[in-house]
Amino acid sequence: MAQAPDMYQRNIDSDIQFLPGVGPKRAALLRSELGIATIGDFVRIYPFRYIDRSSVQKIASVPVDAAYVQIQAKVVRTMLMGSGSRILYMRDLQGALRGDGSVPGYAAPTGSDRAAEGKIQFSQAKRLSVIVDDGSAQMELVFFKGIKYTFERLLPGSTFLFFGKPSVFGGKVNMVHPEIDNPLLPGSGAGGVMTGVYSSTDKLRSGGITGKVMNKLMDTALSLVLPEVGETLPEYVLRDKRLVPLTFALRNIHFPTDAESLQKAQRRLKFEELFLLQLSLLRQKYVRSRGEKGIPMPLVGKDFNDCYNALPYSLTGAQKRVIKEIRADLMSGHQMNRLLQGDVGSGKTMVAVLTALIAVANGCQACIMAPTEVLAQQHFANISRYLAPTSVKVALLTGSSRTAERREIDAGLRDGSLGIIVGTHALIEDTVVFKRLGLAIVDEQHRFGVDQRARLWAKNADGIPPHVLVMTATPIPRTLAMTLYGDLNVSVIDEMPPGRKPVETMLVTEKRRFALNKFMREQISQGRQVFVVYPLIFESEKLDYKNLEQGYERMVADFPFPPYKIAIVHGQQSSEDKKFNMEAFAAGRADILVSTTVIEVGVDVPNASVMVIESAERFGLSQLHQLRGRVGRGSDKSYCILVKGDKVSKESQKRLELLCSTEDGFTLAEEDMKMRGPGDLEGTQQSGLPISLNIASLAKDGRLLEEARGYADGILALDPVLEKPENALLAGELAGDKYKKEDYSKIS
Ligand code: ADP
Ligand code: MG
Repeated sequence: MAQAPDMYQRNIDSDIQFLPGVGPKRAALLRSELGIATIGDFVRIYPFRYIDRSSVQKIASVPVDAAYVQIQAKVVRTMLMGSGSRILYMRDLQGALRGDGSVPGYAAPTGSDRAAEGKIQFSQAKRLSVIVDDGSAQMELVFFKGIKYTFERLLPGSTFLFFGKPSVFGGKVNMVHPEIDNPLLPGSGAGGVMTGVYSSTDKLRSGGITGKVMNKLMDTALSLVLPEVGETLPEYVLRDKRLVPLTFALRNIHFPTDAESLQKAQRRLKFEELFLLQLSLLRQKYVRSRGEKGIPMPLVGKDFNDCYNALPYSLTGAQKRVIKEIRADLMSGHQMNRLLQGDVGSGKTMVAVLTALIAVANGCQACIMAPTEVLAQQHFANISRYLAPTSVKVALLTGSSRTAERREIDAGLRDGSLGIIVGTHALIEDTVVFKRLGLAIVDEQHRFGVDQRARLWAKNADGIPPHVLVMTATPIPRTLAMTLYGDLNVSVIDEMPPGRKPVETMLVTEKRRFALNKFMREQISQGRQVFVVYPLIFESEKLDYKNLEQGYERMVADFPFPPYKIAIVHGQQSSEDKKFNMEAFAAGRADILVSTTVIEVGVDVPNASVMVIESAERFGLSQLHQLRGRVGRGSDKSYCILVKGDKVSKESQKRLELLCSTEDGFTLAEEDMKMRGPGDLEGTQQSGLPISLNIASLAKDGRLLEEARGYADGILALDPVLEKPENALLAGELAGDKYKKEDYSKIS
């Protein structure tokens, strides 16, 4: 509810409607569109770019490949274009409006016809073409949306600032959908050379809150609020990090006096944002690691050593390091909550097995959960092999386990004779009772829902929650991991076992289908197997299944039986069919496996040496990378062939080329984040990005984030709960709502 201002209330806490120039209607808009409640909130909305009068370029010298340019030019002609590039209406410097006769009621070019104005049928216009001139040359600006509004605004003869990305069309430089601003007259605006531009919405604009109004309101808001603004960071932090005071930063982020002041303001505000967030995450992590009691597991045990000594290879340095990190957690007496990241094939299973054996050595049981039945089976087969030299009993429990089998498993879990259980979600059903569950390992974290995790959590032994290790093959960029999982312990296997052959990745179009088929036949004749994967996206599921079906039929025609055998696996099959087809391929009875992304996670068929990905542009980068990880596991040279459609956006093309250029999952994840921003990253959609950063960017401000985190860590090392007087400000900031809600990243 809006509160009337009273003499005790500070401006900074006042409802936004009381900012002069706002009122109840605009306040409602600001609240719904931008989430602004108070005047204090308002000044914390920052411009996303600045109009810089000092950097206006001449049209004649606009570089073709410039990222963005700003020109100041006069409109000389506007044209509403119909289909087939026909001019429907044209308005020129004389202010005349002409119709070409194609619209009922108009004769062929008639010269001036002002009466026509009210009758323009904008719905017939396909685009708006605007010719502007700045004295050096002319340029065409093109609009496909907002045609009416723009046509009426850009009257020939008037001058505007246009900001946009130049492109080349028909040999000429033009701009599509540039942003339009009123020209900056000398001395206009509240600041110096630069004026802030705020993100806006149609609703805001039609509610009268235009860019200009925002600038004006911001000026008023700052004059009310700045005298009341206190520091959020202690004196010593400002000194250590050479940061400008908050009042300076706020004034200059909105109305920079020059480029240097703007840069200082940005650095200060970004640091503040990243630092306070990391401080809150690290403090939670600290509190958690002290707080939650965990089952102490000091012993390694004979089984661990028997398993370890029987390994046909030695562990990689990264595997050894991660096991050490896990051991330290298990011995600490506090509950382990650790995320293990490692690319496909980096050897996470081995780490899981050794960790489970530690739990068993300390009188506990361990469960290992996989997201699908196929994967659970595969895990079980691998793990049984690793456990052969030990005395530990292991079983598999899935939805399709038979009753008799189940009874035996239940008994073994209750009396403790079963040390390790591998399975699917079936493991967390209430009917599954352990004697003493000490460790839960979850493969592919994002496939489990929150409530499922909670149930697992409740299967504790003696009231003490089990240790939790979550494994994921989706590499997450470091900066994102530090933020999403900032309060967890994260281990990374960043080294591949020796002997893995590089996978040759190629990008082809439909035109190369014939050559591709020939290549597949060659590989098959050498005894190799081939994966063919089709996209399956929830929103276009029906169509995707149709594509899969057609693809399968074409495949059957191109690779007839005999001699070729093709298996198919997809989500609409019964689990028996799926299993039958999967097993046929895994056992080498089929040459080709056509599937949707069900094979994405984990299945191991070392003899498969070719991965063909259809409509590759429709997959995300990390998904493609995961799929590619399915080949290159055996001793043969392997290939990943990306088949792209005819019309692929520049961005998709770039992504596909990037995939061809590197096999490092972390590099790909970093690049993907740079290209698409962290919000779109796979593996994070489900959880979403829990905090919204106001000014800093995980993709662009990685160095500052590391600096802020390191610095926060140092402060907490000296004052873990922020109780020293010099940290009172920080404790106060972290007590704010923003930092309270989130225990979002608790993974179990
Ligand atoms: P992930 O689960 O991380 O995708 P896996 O645990 O399935 O990877 O391991 C992939 C393959 O590498 C397996 O065949 C495994 O036996 C093998 N492997 C694991 N660790 C090593 C190592 N240190 N040296 C050689 N091979 C290894
Ligand atoms: Mg695995």
